[in-house]
Amino acid sequence: MIDFGSGRFAPSPTGDLHVGNLRTALASWLDCRSRGAPWLVRFEDLDQAVATVEAGERQLQQLAALGMEPDVQPLWQSRQPDRYTSPIDSLVASGRTYPCYCSRREIREAIAAAVNAPNGPESGLYPGTCAALGSSERARRAQFRPPALRFRSDQPAVDFHDDNFGAQSFMVDDFVIRRNDGVPAYNLVVVVDDNAAAVGSVVRADDLLSSTARQILVGEALGYPVPRYAHVPLVVNADGVRLSKRDRSITLDDLAADGVSAGEVLERLAVSMGVAAVGERPSAADLVDRWGSVHVTGWRNTWPLVAT
Ligand code: GLU
Repeated sequence: MIDFGSGRFAPSPTGDLHVGNLRTALASWLDCRSRGAPWLVRFEDLDQAVATVEAGERQLQQLAALGMEPDVQPLWQSRQPDRYTSPIDSLVASGRTYPCYCSRREIREAIAAAVNAPNGPESGLYPGTCAALGSSERARRAQFRPPALRFRSDQPAVDFHDDNFGAQSFMVDDFVIRRNDGVPAYNLVVVVDDNAAAVGSVVRADDLLSSTARQILVGEALGYPVPRYAHVPLVVNADGVRLSKRDRSITLDDLAADGVSAGEVLERLAVSMGVAAVGERPSAADLVDRWGSVHVTGWRNTWPLVAT
């Protein structure tokens, strides 16, 4: 058994977990349990406009209802905001950052105008407008808006291996590591927190594959070891679109109201991942020994996941 260290589930506490979130959680939980490694929960609640303690507490109950309990107290990012200061300072000191004064609109316009840019206008990648501003221009722009802080990627593409999806390559722009309201950005905090918790196995949804390229660059610049990545497919609705609040009957409460128990939800998730048979009603613990041989190519990803 390879010792990758801890694994984690890192939801934003903005509402009830839906079956897609729960399946991602189950994949990371099984990854940890099958390796005998600690499983952590980290609440990505730095965006205080949308995150609430109540939502996080409910999410813990929803994980527990399926048999998943974190091995240590969950981390709430907003409760220790200073932990990001020194990593950011060290990136600044090593010249890997620059202040960016662009508004969203300016970025959209610059991307649209960059028809000759190597990445093309469709890429949505930041075209580097503020990368080489002189100090007087910075001072002038600072009068109008506080700057965000961008990481200087210094390379057009990042290649990495994903244990489920194989060889990956993504274009990487100079991305934000601290927002212009001073809040550290997702691509920075996830790397700092994973490293601090000795997370060596990142099992999460595949919508984050391109973010992984950015996170690898930040981690390398901070001198952290690169974790193993194993992304898993999102659960989608009948139209093939990832589940969202607009979809009905996808939280445990909604499903319970429709007569679908937590045990049946767990079974559907397990069947969709190829670790249980229909009608078996396994517990989460029953699935642990079956996890090693699982590969996501055989997963069924359209809710309700099994023929009803
Ligand atoms: N908070 C992210 C999400 O809910 C997950 C972040 C991560 O796993 O790195 O999609």
